[in-house]
Amino acid sequence: MEISLKNQVAIITGASSGIGTGIAKSLAKAGAIVVVNHSSEHSKDEAEAVLHEIKQNGGSGMVFQCDVSDENQVLAMFSETISKFGTVDILVNNAGLQKDAKFTEMTVKDWDTVMDINLKGQFLCAREAIKEFLRRGIDTSKSVACGKIIHISSVHEVIPWAGHVNYAASKGGVKLLMQSLAQEYGAQKIRVNSICPGAIQTPINEEAWETKEAMEDLLKLIPYDRIGQPEDVGNLAVFLASDFSDYITGASIFVDGGMTVLESFSRGG
Ligand code: NAD
Repeated sequence: MEISLKNQVAIITGASSGIGTGIAKSLAKAGAIVVVNHSSEHSKDEAEAVLHEIKQNGGSGMVFQCDVSDENQVLAMFSETISKFGTVDILVNNAGLQKDAKFTEMTVKDWDTVMDINLKGQFLCAREAIKEFLRRGIDTSKSVACGKIIHISSVHEVIPWAGHVNYAASKGGVKLLMQSLAQEYGAQKIRVNSICPGAIQTPINEEAWETKEAMEDLLKLIPYDRIGQPEDVGNLAVFLASDFSDYITGASIFVDGGMTVLESFSRGG
């Protein structure tokens, strides 16, 4: 099965690192024109390096700096993308972070930062993407759908996470944001789904895999007995962005090596 996303324009938020980089490379390999979003001056070089590698491999796109929690910056990213590439066909709402704390020590700033980036950022980008999909309508030369949104959620949209209450609440919010959008825009042929990664080896969770002991502990939670890689998520993003998944909308798909299969029940419960 060869999937082509040729000429489709994809915005990938938080693509200067980790899963976002993996998704940008996978979409570009399938032929999409990619917008490698990053958040600040600090991530500029990393984003440029991602685009450089994509171009070396025959792909195309641009880098765009935008803090997804800032409405005006999100508007600017969509308007620049549309003026440069004509439209937006695919949005991957990936940007996210953790600000972990014991609940009684969690500050309002910790709470707001996570909600602003992980949830409000996904709302703002999805809103602008859907406006553009509706303006353009279906272009059957590219896809039978009017547009595709892929939210990057987490296994923590179903697994509660002590010590990470703000993060788990943000991903629980992403689940119902995604499902409500799939419901609201299904008739217009806009498909909206979530990818829920388990443990993927990126900077966000370095302490969970950087030492041999930490990795051994982590693997106890993963029936498939390996940590995930960004391309595991990238492969699924390509499928969800393509017409091969045309009857899939409103779904949360887990890429977690079986983490959500209750591990304790493997010994009979
Ligand atoms: P990462 O830290 O490597 O990447 C996060 C990216 O988001 C970075 O590029 C960062 O610059 C960007 N970002 C942060 N704030 C931003 C903002 N305001 N505007 C734009 N971009 C911003 O981490 P990752 O593991 O690649 O995480 C990517 C997504 O995957 C996140 O939503 C995270 O919650 C989710 N996720 C990761 C794992 C995992 O195990 N790595 C598991 C489940 C879910």
